[in-house]
Amino acid sequence: MKHFTLKFLAILLPIQIALISILKLFPKFIEQYYSQNLFFVISKTQHFLLSWIPFSFGDLLYAFIVIWILFWIFKLFRNKFKNFKIKLLEVLAFLSVFYFLFHFFWGLNYYRLPLHKNLKIGTEYSKTELVDFTCELIQRTNIAHRKLVSHDSTKVDFNFKQKELQDLVFDAYQNFENEKFHFKYERENVKPSLFSLPLSYAGFSGYVNPFTNEAQYNYKIPTYKLPTSIAHEIGHQLGYSKENEANFIASILSIHDKNPHVRYSGLTFALKYSLTDIYKSDPELSQVLISELNPGVMKNYKEVQGFWDKYRGPIELFMEMMYGNYLKINNQPKGMDSYNYVVALLVNYHKSFNIFE
Ligand SMILES: [Zn+2]
Repeated sequence: MKHFTLKFLAILLPIQIALISILKLFPKFIEQYYSQNLFFVISKTQHFLLSWIPFSFGDLLYAFIVIWILFWIFKLFRNKFKNFKIKLLEVLAFLSVFYFLFHFFWGLNYYRLPLHKNLKIGTEYSKTELVDFTCELIQRTNIAHRKLVSHDSTKVDFNFKQKELQDLVFDAYQNFENEKFHFKYERENVKPSLFSLPLSYAGFSGYVNPFTNEAQYNYKIPTYKLPTSIAHEIGHQLGYSKENEANFIASILSIHDKNPHVRYSGLTFALKYSLTDIYKSDPELSQVLISELNPGVMKNYKEVQGFWDKYRGPIELFMEMMYGNYLKINNQPKGMDSYNYVVALLVNYHKSFNIFE
């Protein structure tokens, strides 16, 4: 590339960083003009262009970029760091383009209005409120469980093809009627990840490519877990970038769905977060509550736990650290811990609107 272009792009990097740090201060502005407007036009175009491709185009793009970077480094060493200044400019220009595309296509959503403000609900909750909510979830989970099995101690089998589950979740988004949420998800753009094996070792069930807005899921995870994982990724696709918000969206969507399997997976999903939260402050109480659950529900939980245990190892810890840092950079200061803050949204939403209706 011409030196001038490289220099120009490189100079744009600090300017962009400064701009983003100013924009961060105006979440209402981002909500109104980006998340609820421009972002929808961008993502709609991306879905139109890419949803028909049966594999993940974004994964291919990632693979290409990694190979390209490796080749670039190889050349740098082979030429013994000749023209190092230009090489440095190349790196800065690349980062500049990367930074721009990331924020323009999706990343700005990290700085939109927090969901609880949009919903006009609080974030505080008492232990009693949490326990009451959890008890109701347990009751409803047990009922949903018994609708799908003939015995309390049987785990629910999700005898679906993965594509069928994708379609069920897509339908759930289409059918979701709630005046507080207006999900505009017109084209199903969900694909099995080409990197599902490394994802399993890294401990991830899916991700959205911020450059193509395709949702990828780890096709190796137990099918019972797929509906909420896919619903979570679609939540990201709709501009709910933050983990806790995508988890909340996945919960409310699947709890409301008419399909009993999707509903069961949603109830157990929300319940897991609530029980974990109680466990942190009162492990004994959480044990008492767990004993109220049908043993078959526990078998579904254990199936998922067993899956992750199979892949557990240093890579997972490393990836958690990396992703934790990524979240911290992108306006989620609590990093991986923010996965648990979904409880604040669940309990407070339930307090104001009754999540089961
Ligand atoms: Zn996520």
